[in-house]
Amino acid sequence: MSRKLTFGKLSRRQFLKASGIGLLGVAAGCGQGKLLSSISTTEALAPVASPELAADTILLNGKVLTVDKANSEAQAVAIKDGLIQAIGSDRDLAPLVGEKTQMIDLDKKVVSPGFIDPHVHFRVIGLDYLYFQPFLPPNVKDVASLQAAIADVAASKPQGEWIQGYFLILTDNMFPNRYELDAAAPNHPVWVMHIGGHWGCANSAAIKLAGITAATPNPVGGIIEKDKSGEPSGIFYNHRAMDVLRRVAPPITYETLTQAILNTQPVMAACGVTSYQDNNVRGLDQFQAYQDLAKQGKLYLHSSLFLTLEWPEDIEKVDQIEYYQDDFSRVAGYKFLIDGQVPTAYCHQPHNGTSWDMPTWDPDNFKSVVRSLHDTGLQICTHCVGDAAADLALDAYEAAMNANPRSDPRHRLEHLVLTTSAATQRMRDLGVIASANPHFIYVAGDSYANNFGENMLDRIIVTREWLDNGVHLTIGSDAPSVPFHHPQATMAGGMSRLTFNKNVIGADQCLTFTEALRAHTIEAAYAAHEEDIKGSLEPGKLADLVVWNEDPSRLRIGELFATTTVTMTMVGGKIVHPA
Ligand SMILES: [Zn+2]
Repeated sequence: MSRKLTFGKLSRRQFLKASGIGLLGVAAGCGQGKLLSSISTTEALAPVASPELAADTILLNGKVLTVDKANSEAQAVAIKDGLIQAIGSDRDLAPLVGEKTQMIDLDKKVVSPGFIDPHVHFRVIGLDYLYFQPFLPPNVKDVASLQAAIADVAASKPQGEWIQGYFLILTDNMFPNRYELDAAAPNHPVWVMHIGGHWGCANSAAIKLAGITAATPNPVGGIIEKDKSGEPSGIFYNHRAMDVLRRVAPPITYETLTQAILNTQPVMAACGVTSYQDNNVRGLDQFQAYQDLAKQGKLYLHSSLFLTLEWPEDIEKVDQIEYYQDDFSRVAGYKFLIDGQVPTAYCHQPHNGTSWDMPTWDPDNFKSVVRSLHDTGLQICTHCVGDAAADLALDAYEAAMNANPRSDPRHRLEHLVLTTSAATQRMRDLGVIASANPHFIYVAGDSYANNFGENMLDRIIVTREWLDNGVHLTIGSDAPSVPFHHPQATMAGGMSRLTFNKNVIGADQCLTFTEALRAHTIEAAYAAHEEDIKGSLEPGKLADLVVWNEDPSRLRIGELFATTTVTMTMVGGKIVHPA
C-alpha cells in the first residue's frame, strides 16, 4: 500500500495529465467527453475556468467515500469558498481548473468526510496535562503503581499543594482507598478520579479540608462511601458527591481552560476530527472560554456546546449563558446525568456494583426541568448507563414532547450501556437519538458480566438493534473518559465489540465499516441538526474532510484501532492538519 502522498501543488499541466483531461475538450468549450483529436493540445492545457467558476482547491486521483445516501464513491473533490463545489471523477472536475486552483494529488488515498465527535469532553482532554495528572496504563496498572506515581508527583510539589489526577486500572475493579493514598502522599491533599469521571478517591488531607466526616450525609444522587467504622472511605460516587469534595480543590483558572481548548485542537485535528460536540460544559466560565476563543478567531474546529445541569439550581445558568453563534461555536442545548458509571448504573434490576437504584436527579424534579428546557427549542442530552436511567429520560422527553409538541426536537440519550428492547421502540417513535460509545466494551466490557450478570450481556450497547429498528445512531469518543480520543478506535470498537481480554460481547450487534463511518460523520451531524451543512461530501456542504493514511477498508481491526493520525484534515477547505 502506498504511503506516499504528493502534497506539492501540481501544475495545471501535471493535473491534466494525471486526470486524463487530455482526452477532454472542455478547454475549447466543447463540452465534456469530446475527444482530444478535435482540439489542439495547447487548447486542452489552457486554463479552462473563469475566476468566478474556478475551484480554489481540487483533490484528485483518490478514492472518495462521500457518505451520501447511497454511500457512493468518487475520485475527486472540488472546493470553493470553503464549500464543496463538486464531486466526481477527475475528468468531471476538469472544467473547474483555473489559473489559481490548488491541485492536490491524492495518489489513490481515501478521502472521507471529516469526523464529527458527537460526545467528547474536549477541554478536559487538554486539562489532563495542564490541571490533572494522568495516572494511566502502562505506567499505572494497579493500586501499587498508582501509589508510586502519586508519590513521585508529591516529591516534586511543596507540601499542602493539591495532587489531582485521573487513573485507569483496566484489569479489575480495584478501588484505591484514602489510606492507600495517604501512604503515597501523606502531606498533600490528593484527589484522583477514575478516568470515566464519575467516581474518585480522596486522601485524608483532602477529606479533612472539605470538612467531610462520618456525620456527612450523602447528597441526593451521590454516595460518600463509609467504611466499616463509619468513617469516609475516600471514595465518592457520582458528581453530586464528588462536588462535595471538589469544592475545596483549587479552581481551574480561565487561562488554563482556554489553553486546554487550544491544546486539544491539534490533537483532534491530527486524527481527522473537524467538528465536536462538547457534551458536558459544566460552568459559565467554561462556556465563555469556548465562546471567547471563537470571537478571537482562535477556534478552527467546529464546536457545539451543551450546558450541563448537575443540580436543580443550575437551571439559573440557562439564562446566564450567551446564546452566541458563529462558524466555530454554537450553543446546541443542555445535558443531564441521570446516573454514573457501571458501579452506579441506575437499573431496573439489582446489579453487583455499588448502587443500582439511585438516579442522580429526583425523577419528578428532572421531568419538570426537562419540560422547561424542551420549551427553549434546543436539544437535551441525558447520560444514561443503566436501563432505568434510559427509561426515565425517555419518560421525561415524552412528557415534554406531549405537553409542547414541536417538530423534530431530536433529544438524545448518551452512552446507553444497558437498555431494554422497549426503549428501542420508544426511541424510534420519539425520534430520540442513540449516542453511544461502543469502544467502552474494550475498556470496561470485561466487567459487565460481573456487574450486570451474564444474562444481561445481550443488552449491552445494542447498536444493531437500534439501526434495524430505525433509531438514529451516532458514535463518539467520550474522551478523555476512555484513553482513546481518536474516531478510528471508536469505530473499531463498534465493528469488533472486543474487550480488553479479547472476548466479544454481542457479536450480532457489530457494525460494518460503512455503518461505523456513517455513525461518526453524517449521523453525528444529524445528532446536532447539522446534516444539511456537514457530515457527507456533497456539493454545497462544508469542505470538512479527511485524507486517510491507508485505505481503512483494508485495515484489520487492530490496525484501525491504532490509527491515531491521518494524512490530512481540512476544515472549510483549509488544511488544519498537518499544521
Ligand atoms: Zn461523557
